[in-house]
Amino acid sequence: MRDYGIAIDIGTSGLRAQSIDLNQDKVLATAITMGHPVPGANVMDHLDFAIDMEKSMARNLILSSLNSLLERLRIDLGRVERVAVCGNPIQLSIFQDMEIRDLAYSGERAKKKLGIENIKRDARVLDAGSLGLNVHPEAEGYIPPAVKHEIGADALAMMYKTDFLTTDEISMVTDYGTNAEMAIKIGNDIITGSAAAGPAIEGQHVGKGMLAAPGAISDIDPREDGLVNTYVLNRDLYKSRGAVIDPNSGEIVEKGEYEAKGITGTGVVALVSTGMDTGLMSPGKINNEENLVRLQKGIEFSQEDLREVGKTIAAFTSGHMTLTQESGISLRDIKNMYMTGATGTYVDAFKAMKLGLVPGTVEKVMQVGNTSLALACDIVRDTGMLDILQETADSIRAKHLMFAESKVFENAFAVEMGVWVQGMPFDQEEGMRKHFGLEPRPPLNPDPDVIRIRERDIHDLGMHGLTVVENVGTVLRGELSECNECGRCIKSCNEEALSLRPDGSVMVIEVNTGRCLGTACKRCERACKSKFLKLHSLKVESGGMV
Ligand code: SF4
Ligand code: SF4
Repeated sequence: MRDYGIAIDIGTSGLRAQSIDLNQDKVLATAITMGHPVPGANVMDHLDFAIDMEKSMARNLILSSLNSLLERLRIDLGRVERVAVCGNPIQLSIFQDMEIRDLAYSGERAKKKLGIENIKRDARVLDAGSLGLNVHPEAEGYIPPAVKHEIGADALAMMYKTDFLTTDEISMVTDYGTNAEMAIKIGNDIITGSAAAGPAIEGQHVGKGMLAAPGAISDIDPREDGLVNTYVLNRDLYKSRGAVIDPNSGEIVEKGEYEAKGITGTGVVALVSTGMDTGLMSPGKINNEENLVRLQKGIEFSQEDLREVGKTIAAFTSGHMTLTQESGISLRDIKNMYMTGATGTYVDAFKAMKLGLVPGTVEKVMQVGNTSLALACDIVRDTGMLDILQETADSIRAKHLMFAESKVFENAFAVEMGVWVQGMPFDQEEGMRKHFGLEPRPPLNPDPDVIRIRERDIHDLGMHGLTVVENVGTVLRGELSECNECGRCIKSCNEEALSLRPDGSVMVIEVNTGRCLGTACKRCERACKSKFLKLHSLKVESGGMV
């Protein structure tokens, strides 16, 4: 008797899984990782790693972590009937061991020159066992379709799990994650796009950043006395009252209900919005003596962090501008905004509007949660949905906009980077927008209708609740028969991802993949003057999640 289903979301910043009792139609347990097992901070790093390293290495890292995660779902995995896996095209292709090189190039000419064919990524049903998941060997595996190579099943999820597809009003939906998938609906036309927003939107690549998990500062409010109120996600991922802090000294003036460990993407948005309101920050600059905000001992936010967030703001703003302008409408025509993903759910929507992450003039904002995991849950419950999703993907495929080929995006991104990273004043920004034929920054609607459809990004954690895996624990390991133990490689690794230890006549090298920056870095290889260290030669060791 097989009574269980499993829903999986392979996100760029972490993996999420839920067990479902199929007889009682209810979620049993949820498990998430606080990082991705493949080295690198964004999906292009993961793609580069998968192409550059031994092909199976990235897949084995994902599989090893997923199988460890499944063990935390409080079910007998031998009684699993079906599994649905959602994610973006790069993650799903690596997971399914499919061709990925076509995803690395946006231009058709470059692909043709290199002899790379575009791969169809339609909906699939196959044995979950053949996917490498440690469940019943006859369990079925369901993979939803991609729309286009940048717009995957996770982007379909954000459209499908809201009423975006059926609304008659001009509306926009955006996943506030590292890949910033977005779409607008004008009449019956749906136009999609995707901008590389970077990891800061999910609280990563920020000094004390973390994903939306217990202990994350998720919101900040200014106070008249110059202090700030912080809010922290509690054990059940609900927003609870955090400490009252002096942001210049980091002094805790009043303790909160739940202790903070770091700051997540929504907290970062709130911090920058608060900083701009109070004069503590201006674009690209923290205006106190140390150029540093302290949100209590050990949780600091630097000018470098502010610039990292600036790149994210520039990507979202430019993407929204490109979608509307290339479609012949104004940002002011958008009536409704649907915000998805953890940041889209927990962020104070008005603060996001102030920074331009949501077009300022929208009338209604709906915050919807993690739609990718929710869609995987829906497929587990009703497998017939796969056909509907395929039809939807086919019907909207033709109207995808490649931002990499858009002059509007190129100009908009240059202007917004000038503001948010280089500190260009807003009045100068208006001049630059005019110069490039971009529409002026829309005025801010002071009273938008904000509807929080979901209080948590994962709506139903199940009767056994949430397990958070702080350290994915995947390791690349190998033996060096030649090494003079100079230690240069260790010193070169700012991420502290590398370790070396003697074992008999060889040196054993280990790379913690959750910390490693991957092929974009390779400082350790370059530091080894004798060229003994080759990341290619290492092998994946099974996960030791903690
Ligand atoms: S130095 Fe090496 S181990 Fe460290 S982050 Fe860079 S590639 Fe990874
Ligand atoms: S830099 Fe090369 S020789 Fe030096 S410790 Fe590292 S692997 Fe060994």
